[in-house]
Amino acid sequence: MKALAIDFGGTHATLGVVEDRSLLASETIDTHRAKSMAAILPRVADSFPALARQACTRLEECDGVSVGIAALVDSRIGRVVSTNVKYEDSKDIDLGAWSRETLGLPLRIENDARMALLGEFYAGAARGFTDVVMMTLGTGIGGAAMIEGKLLRGKHAQAGCLGGHLPTLFNGRRCTCGAIGCAESEAGGWAIPGLVKEWPGIASSALAQYAEVAFKELFEEADRGDEIAITIRDRCLQIWAVDAVALVHAYDPEIIVIGGGVMKSADVIIPYVQSYVQKHAWTPWGKVQVRPAELGNNAALLGAIPLLSEIRT
Ligand SMILES: [Zn+2]
Repeated sequence: MKALAIDFGGTHATLGVVEDRSLLASETIDTHRAKSMAAILPRVADSFPALARQACTRLEECDGVSVGIAALVDSRIGRVVSTNVKYEDSKDIDLGAWSRETLGLPLRIENDARMALLGEFYAGAARGFTDVVMMTLGTGIGGAAMIEGKLLRGKHAQAGCLGGHLPTLFNGRRCTCGAIGCAESEAGGWAIPGLVKEWPGIASSALAQYAEVAFKELFEEADRGDEIAITIRDRCLQIWAVDAVALVHAYDPEIIVIGGGVMKSADVIIPYVQSYVQKHAWTPWGKVQVRPAELGNNAALLGAIPLLSEIRT
């Protein structure tokens, strides 16, 4: 089975031609300055025929188009329900009609974290498992859940997506979502600069030399032995691990797959979360496995085949 796949990210869109578990060809379009989806779609339509040729196939040989986007999506009606700053106009665009008219193919759309889970389930770290939770540690903390081989979607299409907004501290920091002490407001990428700036005694830390501290600087300085960096890093690990236990209790997975840029430090993160989950999650049946994502930025594209072959319910 072959498919065209689009992953609409914050600063770029990636297009791919996929055959089963392989990405045959891909191209990244810079969308940094494009605020609207309408401005990008003509470039997408122009790129696909050449990309298909590169993959030694033709559009007519593909079974459909899959779209992943960082927005709340109701895949049952094929529409974006709610966006956060980027691609505001996507709620008003009938992507299914656009695809039929310009590419001659049916289209399905889904939230990007769910697409990443589908990709890892089909071709990556979660192959062979039917009950999966995905955590993506990035600017925010993304999430998705699969139960008994089916993506969890829920009545308002947001079930399983808000794992980064599970409260971890009742007296913690205010989150952008309105709650207090969310995993994301305590240890999401966007929260780190503020957390570091306010840390007692930060002036004596190597972290003070950076205009803004991201995970990269935090983990590097912790590796070099800076005590405050170690304390803040370990606090992040604890928050992620507490979030993972909450996700285990909520969704009963066999495996938690963790992805995101900070997983360059998987050697620190995975053993910590694994041992914390083992110690603190109530799973009398056995041990939940915690594994790093395998597909990196291609995960959402490789979710194309399972999304397109999903039985509509
Ligand atoms: Zn929140």
